[in-house]
Amino acid sequence: MNRIFVRFSLLVMLAVTVASFVIYFVISNLFGDPFEEIALKQASGQIFLLEQYVDKAPADEWLQRLNKVREISRVKFELIPLKAALPLLPAKKEASLMRGEVVLDAADKSFFRRVDLAGDKYIGSEEEVIHAEDLPIDVGLAVKVELVRYVIVALFLLIPVAVWSSLHWRGLQSLSKVARDFGEGNLSARATTKKTSSIYPLAERMNQMAARIESLLEAQKNLMHSVSHELRTPVARLEFGLELLRQDVKKTADGSAAEARMQAMEADLIELNMLVKELLSLTRLDQQQENRHTQFSLAEALHDCVGIMDHALSGKLLKTDIGAGIGLMAGDPRLISRAVTNLMMNAAKYASHQLVLSAHRLADGAVEVIVEDDGPGIPVEERERIFDPFYRLDRSRDRATGGFGLGLAIAQKAALLHGGNIHVAESSLGGARFVMRLPSGL
Ligand code: ADP
Repeated sequence: MNRIFVRFSLLVMLAVTVASFVIYFVISNLFGDPFEEIALKQASGQIFLLEQYVDKAPADEWLQRLNKVREISRVKFELIPLKAALPLLPAKKEASLMRGEVVLDAADKSFFRRVDLAGDKYIGSEEEVIHAEDLPIDVGLAVKVELVRYVIVALFLLIPVAVWSSLHWRGLQSLSKVARDFGEGNLSARATTKKTSSIYPLAERMNQMAARIESLLEAQKNLMHSVSHELRTPVARLEFGLELLRQDVKKTADGSAAEARMQAMEADLIELNMLVKELLSLTRLDQQQENRHTQFSLAEALHDCVGIMDHALSGKLLKTDIGAGIGLMAGDPRLISRAVTNLMMNAAKYASHQLVLSAHRLADGAVEVIVEDDGPGIPVEERERIFDPFYRLDRSRDRATGGFGLGLAIAQKAALLHGGNIHVAESSLGGARFVMRLPSGL
């Protein structure tokens, strides 16, 4: 059952209950208590007997007639002193009794009435009151009838609410699905709400927003792609020009100073080339919607990554702990290796003495690949941002180590393309601990 309907039905029930009390209160004040009216009708036989039979007797027979009525009726007729009767009544009814009217007490199923006002029925009769008890009064049925009436009204109110809320709820569910799909990266997800729906304006705004975000992201990707492509040509031309220059310089007398300058230029060019390559990989990953699925042995892929680390370790110790049973994975082995290599290159860069690569399979079938080191680690407040492209912690330090701030962004994209992710924590070795979690994908 939808949540709107549940809440609405509780509210309707509450409103109908409050309304029934308000109605009773207003009617009682304007026209008198409706339940007392009912009780009066139910007691009318006994009142009729008193007024039309007992009271109609000549003065000296009045008591005899009352006794006769007592004999035949199941109602108890008692004569009590006026002084004793008055405290039994609510204050506003005392005056009615004093005027000689019948005063009903529906809750007690009884009524009071003075014998007479002038005292001519018997000696002292003006000081006495007839108290009739056990009257055949039952307002319970009337209460039940009212209750059934209000419950039926409430139920009929709930029928249109149920129809409306289920339509509304379905609309909201579909909007929420669109928002979820969009959030998960399906940028073409759009709401298809009917124009007549009450949430159509919201769906339309959402679609406009989605279209705008999609076009902005598309523009950003295209820009990145074009910039990296455009950079490639002049870099290649520069390389070519430099080579020509080198050959010319060799032929001149003062070649060594020019040679040193050219080597510096060459180093800059290499760096520029690497940047272009990294940028292109990142934009390619951005444009890739799904990874190419093949089944491969994860342990083998990880050992290959370790194999190419030799030159980057510069004397640091690399330990591995790759569970023998981690088995097969489905995905793009090239991308996974790229991500792991990037993490290991960083660990090698920042480790003081050692780094560890470990991998194991979790109970839910997913795999965790962990790269940790004993370097400076990542401050807690930076642990999300370091995955943003071009984000570096300490720029001067990292430029010296030759990074562009793209390695982690590429690794994270590769993990996301496999339905996984990478997060960073603190290692027991003292440095950073990067955990890449990948669903098995099999
Ligand atoms: P870069 O190519 O500059 O290394 P990355 O995206 O790989 O870029 O890393 C982003 C930043 O995260 C780095 O500049 C560095 O400051 C920090 N970082 C990454 N790995 C580690 C690590 N193992 N230990 C300490 N800092 C790290």
